Amino acid sequence: MATAAAASKPVLWVPRHVLVTASAQAEPHGRAILDRLAAAGVDDVRLLTGDRLPPLRGDDDRATYARAKRTLAVVTSAQSKRRPTPIPPSADFSFPLAEGCPGHCQYCYLAGSLAGPPITRVYADLPRVLEGLDAVVGTGAVTSGTAARGHEGTTFEASCYTDPLALEHVTGSLAATITHFGTHDWPGPVQLRLTTKYDDVEPLLDLPHHGRTRVRASVNVTDVERFEGGTARVAARLHALGRLARAGYPVGLTIAPIMPVDDWRGQYAGLLDAAAAELPAGADLTVECITHRFTPKSKDVQLGWYPRTKLDLEESTRSRKHGKFGAVKYVYDRDTMRDLRGWFEAAVADRLPAARLLYWT
Ligand code: SF4
Repeated sequence: MATAAAASKPVLWVPRHVLVTASAQAEPHGRAILDRLAAAGVDDVRLLTGDRLPPLRGDDDRATYARAKRTLAVVTSAQSKRRPTPIPPSADFSFPLAEGCPGHCQYCYLAGSLAGPPITRVYADLPRVLEGLDAVVGTGAVTSGTAARGHEGTTFEASCYTDPLALEHVTGSLAATITHFGTHDWPGPVQLRLTTKYDDVEPLLDLPHHGRTRVRASVNVTDVERFEGGTARVAARLHALGRLARAGYPVGLTIAPIMPVDDWRGQYAGLLDAAAAELPAGADLTVECITHRFTPKSKDVQLGWYPRTKLDLEESTRSRKHGKFGAVKYVYDRDTMRDLRGWFEAAVADRLPAARLLYWT
């Protein structure tokens, strides 16, 4: 597995269409993104005279989806979005580098949480977004309240609404953020966190990260990986994670979404063993386990985008749960959850004994 992954080229997304708002054109980071897009050979770049994106609609949901997924918008963040938002259990706060993702994962939770056609928006005013983080350092509830994570300082999640590594070669935003976390004079301890299904880690290896960025690979078994179009293969993600760990980064596995597929014990055991084979001894490793769930809204959007999906979206076999603000979500029933959880807790301890299991959900 390691040899094949090492030999393969990283997955690099290049947008077909680019829209740049007037405010984004005025930002130095926005202009740097335009230079990167030119170097990547993108020639359909529309410089807008205002800050409103033009409507994007195809003949049906599927056509709208296809066009939006090929489109990158370079914008500036609204003040309300710039503010760090609490997001337990993953981290103390999330903050935006971008919104949307070029991947085609049929189960993607972004389907239910972003409004409108799934254009990927990247933020040209990144320095302002980063400046705003100082104000909340020391105020988080997740890390300060957890013995396993207290030493991490205030944690900031950069991949709530995007996969930052997917966009890196056309934005440079992730390298700038890792460098900021590694070199800024913070008012207290901090940690940047991101999770990715991509593998182009070469530009990150020599950054002055100073151990303040934890990169997690989002990984799964073959029967779930087949729902993850446009992403790097799992073997390549694990190989990339090993390279980051050898470059001194704290690393992690986001095992998500966990599904009780055929022979799930055997398949997930193979996944944990493949991770162990790629990671160096002594790696600072965490594991997060997230089972598959969906909401009525995400199901609706996913079926519009992937009408022939084989994804299990059957409500009658699930338990209904009420999330934040009363929203309904469908999770596996209690017996299935108990079996999965018991097995994962034991298997992670057995196959990755140095790892800290952060949470199960
Ligand atoms: Fe969604 Fe992550 Fe897949 Fe992107 S890589 S489509 S954010 S699940």
